Amino acid sequence: MNYCRFLLNDQIHYGAVEDVDGDLWIAGPAPAPTEDLAYRLALEQGEIKNFDFQPMPLAAADLLPPVTPSKIVCVGRNYREHVQELGNEMPAEPLLFFKPPSSLLASGGTVRLPALSSRVDFEGELALVIGRKVRKLSPEHNWRDVVRGFTLANDISARDLQKKDAQWTRAKGFDTFCPVGPVVSDELDLDAGLTIETRLNGEVRQRGSTLDFIFSVPVLLSAITAAITLEAGDLVLTGTPSGVGPLTPGDRVQVSMTGLGVLENGIEAD
Ligand code: MG
Repeated sequence: MNYCRFLLNDQIHYGAVEDVDGDLWIAGPAPAPTEDLAYRLALEQGEIKNFDFQPMPLAAADLLPPVTPSKIVCVGRNYREHVQELGNEMPAEPLLFFKPPSSLLASGGTVRLPALSSRVDFEGELALVIGRKVRKLSPEHNWRDVVRGFTLANDISARDLQKKDAQWTRAKGFDTFCPVGPVVSDELDLDAGLTIETRLNGEVRQRGSTLDFIFSVPVLLSAITAAITLEAGDLVLTGTPSGVGPLTPGDRVQVSMTGLGVLENGIEAD
């Protein structure tokens, strides 16, 4: 199942996404996850009436982030070459940090570069969408049992503030600093090696394989849930490959992976 979340006539909808001759289409309604409180409220208040929309190209939809997480947990360094390009030590255990849900941005939305920073980077990443409440997950547990699916994310980072501040809350947490989407899919085989790419103004700047993870998904989930209970709908950003670089107003940044479509965002000064 592949699904997206979008606005139509001021109503939130979930759409089942299908590949039609290489283009993604919203073919019909998809079930809404229980954690989308805004959707449930609109349902209860009778604001959502029309489930019977016509199929449309995903590219033509007014997309929303496909997830409504209570928290976004990120992994700081999970590709060997990216650790080296920033001159960091190879981590002995996953380095974790948060981005706030207020930083979420849909595909098609515009990243705003804050005046407080003079160096804001893109970081294309594969994200896990958690499917049920989980704590203290064993690395031997079947992790697919707790992961609803996958989506794309861009861990936008104010690199100068990341270096200046003792921790990363501000550098990673500005509004619009977490583009995510366009779809959630449970049809990917991570173990087969999936390639993620980031393009800046059409030029490939990052390319990494999930086979290059320093910490595998079960190890990440075990490390995270040893400390933090994950809830249905929560996002886990799995780290970025090498090739990160700065954004300037007027840029277009695209993160893509076969089966997940293209997460595309414009850039402007705030
Ligand atoms: Mg990152």
